[in-house]
Amino acid sequence: MEYQLDFRTYSNALRKNRLMGLKCNRCGTVTCPPKMTCQECAGTDLEITELSGRGTITTFTTTYVAPWKGRSKRLTPLSWSSLTKAPGSRAT
Ligand SMILES: [Zn+2]
Repeated sequence: MEYQLDFRTYSNALRKNRLMGLKCNRCGTVTCPPKMTCQECAGTDLEITELSGRGTITTFTTTYVAPWKGRSKRLTPLSWSSLTKAPGSRAT
């Protein structure tokens, strides 16, 4: 099994202000950031889709300690959010 949308492609799109995800052809859920399977049904029939970049933040948290060593001062604080874009889709 391989990634439909690898991290490099996803990151390069973000640098161009484009948010990419994977739409599940089984249940319609959009998984973002991309994973190997649908976050809702674990299906593997996924297609790359571009998200509009608009949505509603349902929750968020801020981390002041980097989850890895190294450039932590430059990368913190990190904010993680969960947002809903449309019925059946959620991005974290
Ligand atoms: Zn699914």
